[in-house]
Amino acid sequence: MMMIMMTTTRRSLRCSRLRCPPSAHHSLSSSSSAAAVESERTIREGPRNDWTREEINSVYQSPVLDLLFHGAQVHRHAHNFREVQQCTLLSIKTGGCSEDCSYCPQSSRYNTGLKAQKLMDTDAVLEAAKNAKEAGSTRFCMGAAWRDTVGRKTNFKQILEYVKEIRGMGMEVCCTLGMLEKQQAVELKEAGLTAYNHNLDTSREYYPNIITTRTYDERLETLQHVREAGINVCSGGIIGLGEAEEDRVGLLHTLATLPTHPESVPINALLAVKGTPLQDQKPVEIWEMVRMIATARIVMPKAMVRLSAGRVRFSMPEQALCFLAGANSIFTGEKLLTTPNNDYDADQLMFKVLGLTPKAPSFSEEAAGDIVSERCEQEEAISNVG
Ligand code: SF4
Repeated sequence: MMMIMMTTTRRSLRCSRLRCPPSAHHSLSSSSSAAAVESERTIREGPRNDWTREEINSVYQSPVLDLLFHGAQVHRHAHNFREVQQCTLLSIKTGGCSEDCSYCPQSSRYNTGLKAQKLMDTDAVLEAAKNAKEAGSTRFCMGAAWRDTVGRKTNFKQILEYVKEIRGMGMEVCCTLGMLEKQQAVELKEAGLTAYNHNLDTSREYYPNIITTRTYDERLETLQHVREAGINVCSGGIIGLGEAEEDRVGLLHTLATLPTHPESVPINALLAVKGTPLQDQKPVEIWEMVRMIATARIVMPKAMVRLSAGRVRFSMPEQALCFLAGANSIFTGEKLLTTPNNDYDADQLMFKVLGLTPKAPSFSEEAAGDIVSERCEQEEAISNVG
């Protein structure tokens, strides 16, 4: 009898909570943290680019489980939470780079034992793209260790051909070739390039500690050329460079206040390489990644947030936390440019165990964006009715 009464009381408590008006739910949950308040606002009002650094900092500093929960909510609202994009990154020209990025084994200034290689030939690149496609990858990214492509006319023309061919194979194509000029961005777009990767790496303030051979503004200029050419922007950063939390917030603030959010935001955890100035940095912890990913998800809801370099150090349950927090893209393939990456079979198993499905390629990001906002509006209408 006692049992029945307890069950009934519990049930009626739950029922009365469920029956209360939506506004009451809102006030109950929003009292918990900035992550709760801002995620509800993001779901209600959609993406915005007038974030203050303080607002993003408050989200970032929310209790980590609350941040994770609200990152997951925004993720489910703006994306199919089961879909994860698989991108394969190939270094088509390795090492010998004139830049001094202090995390990078490809800089010619550091003695990392890396063997420099010229631009790969057509057969080798197309073979790699074909293999990536067969392994389930829908986006093929080509990276070249250059400061820029100015004065590399022959190589650049060659890369335009690679872009055309790979696009013709039904894959999305991305490049990361260093700084781009306006005209080069236009030519890449005409060749069929889907996205261009150019990371900001860290905050404007911390940046000079990491790179001195090009400025933050030069990086932003390349992003602007990419955007103006109609190519999707892929830009994120690296944590574990010795930066403070406010630099992580600063990076997200710069990205989230661009006139249009990047379509892809890679979040990398430094893999310290012997011989680079950052060789002794201590590894990034999973909760630092979760904070970055969930905050990125809340402040840039439509972006593909990519769990990138450093994934190899995280176990499957740790990666699951990242997907829950809002990551929906990974790099697959043996290597990430020159550093090790997760094993193919381990990734296949992870997709199976976590119930993830590979995201199909999308050749019209704008149309996809419209669908997302339509879905958001419909869901909002439904929740208002409820
Ligand atoms: S990150 Fe790119 S630009 Fe910097 S040193 Fe490495 S290859 Fe060169």
